[in-house]
Amino acid sequence: MQLRLAQIVADTEAEGPGRRFALWVQGCSLRCPGCCNPEMFAADKGRAADSAELAAQALATAGLEGVSVLGGEPGEQAEAVADFCEMVRAGGLSVMLYSGYTLAELRARPGAERLLKAVDLLVDGRYQQSLPETRRRWLGSTNQVMHFLTPRYSLADPRFASANTVELRLTRDGLTINGWPAAADGVRWRTSR
Ligand code: SF4
Repeated sequence: MQLRLAQIVADTEAEGPGRRFALWVQGCSLRCPGCCNPEMFAADKGRAADSAELAAQALATAGLEGVSVLGGEPGEQAEAVADFCEMVRAGGLSVMLYSGYTLAELRARPGAERLLKAVDLLVDGRYQQSLPETRRRWLGSTNQVMHFLTPRYSLADPRFASANTVELRLTRDGLTINGWPAAADGVRWRTSR
C-alpha cells in the first residue's frame, strides 16, 4: 500500500528507545500552534512510498530495536501505516507511534483499530505549546500520554528516565537535525551515507 512520506532516518537513537528506524509521514490536518514540523502539514507534499518497501528497508538495517512513526499525522493514513507496522513487527522490531489524536479519537478513525494492534507504544494528544514537557523523555507537552499497548515497553525501563538527545547528521544533502532539540541534554553526531 502507498503512504505519503515526509522523511526517513534509517538509524537513530533520538526518537525512542534504542536504535530505531524513524519514519515521518506527510500530512496533518491538526496543525497545532508551535508544531516543530509545519512543513509536514500539507498532504500533497512529500512523496509516495510503498509500505512494504519501507518495511523491507527497516528490516534490512542491522542492529535496530524498532521503528518510530512520527509526522505529520499517522492516524490520517492509518491503513498504509498499519501495513508498515505489521510487517516490521512480524520481523521482530518494536513499534512506537506518535499521534496528535487522543487514543479515543484515534479509535474512531478508519483503519486505526488495525493500526493500534501493530503498535507497542503510542504517544497521543496534540502538541500544546503552553504546556512544554521537561521531565518525560520523547514527549513534547505535558498533556500527551504514553500508552503501553503491549508488554514490550514499560516506564520501569531506565531509558525512559534518561535525558533527551538531539542528533546532527551531515549527509550529501546538507545538515539535518532530529530528536528533541528544545529538551536535549546531549548532542550526538551521526554519519550517514
Ligand atoms: S499533530 Fe503533530 S504533526 Fe500535527 S500539528 Fe500537531 S504536533 Fe504537528
